[in-house]
Amino acid sequence: MTRLLLLGGTAEARALADHLVAAGIEVTTSLAGRVADPRLPVGLVRVGGFGGIDGLRAALADYDVVVDATHPFATTMSANAAAACAAAGLPLLRLERPGWVQRAGQAWHWADSHIHAAQLAARLGGRPVLTIGRQHLAAYLPALADASVLARVVEPPAISVPPRWSVVRDRGPYALPGELTLLRDHRADVVVTKDSGGDYTWPKMVAAQDLGLPVVIVRRPDRPAGVPAVSNVEAALAWVLTGGQGDL
Ligand code: NAP
Repeated sequence: MTRLLLLGGTAEARALADHLVAAGIEVTTSLAGRVADPRLPVGLVRVGGFGGIDGLRAALADYDVVVDATHPFATTMSANAAAACAAAGLPLLRLERPGWVQRAGQAWHWADSHIHAAQLAARLGGRPVLTIGRQHLAAYLPALADASVLARVVEPPAISVPPRWSVVRDRGPYALPGELTLLRDHRADVVVTKDSGGDYTWPKMVAAQDLGLPVVIVRRPDRPAGVPAVSNVEAALAWVLTGGQGDL
């Protein structure tokens, strides 16, 4: 039986685990352990880092094939998976949801980094809503320390935030009415997001458009070179069922 390591932490990884278990594949989903109460997939689950490339390479002795379905911005894990699988000679597939596509009437401003996003947001408004997670909040301090920032995060920030900032804890999926309320209540004049893609957090983009607000979007980082990639769960399943050798 194929033993598959699924690097997870995303809705796509949970959906793929459903399909793999139904197909009789022995799947172990790996979670980073950042969220206190994660949504658990079906199948086996392990939690916590591997200890860099070397630790992951050692762990790969228990698997035949790897699917990296981590978040588009989880760059270290993806790079480590590419290096460890290459060293161990294991097939690796990247499953990554497509980025968002701008619709007519949406005022999007692309940023190349979080620092750049903060500078753009400072230029566009004084009451930004940050929806970029908690890990990169420090990058927003230089440009937005004196702004009335609302930061939405799943887990509490590791940094202490400036006095004019407020923090709200919540976890998607989000719906349009709630997103409209959040932006209206804060009297937001700009929204900042990563190009996460997918449906879970798309309603804020619609809410921003409905309220005529600009959105600053942090571009996705590059993927590791040489790793085959698919953008949906069905294609990933097909790849696994061919033993990680199928045409993409
Ligand atoms: P990251 O910066 O790429 O990874 C940092 C370290 O965390 C890795 O080197 C690894 O530690 C550990 N790690 C990350 N993902 C792991 C996994 N699935 N299983 C075991 N260890 C993992 O990752 P991140 O941006 O902090 O994201 C952490 C997790 O949250 C990912 O699984 C990702 O899918 C999920 N997530 C991330 C975002 C985001 O915006 N970044 C959003 C939603 C969900 P070792 O080097 O010790 O192995």
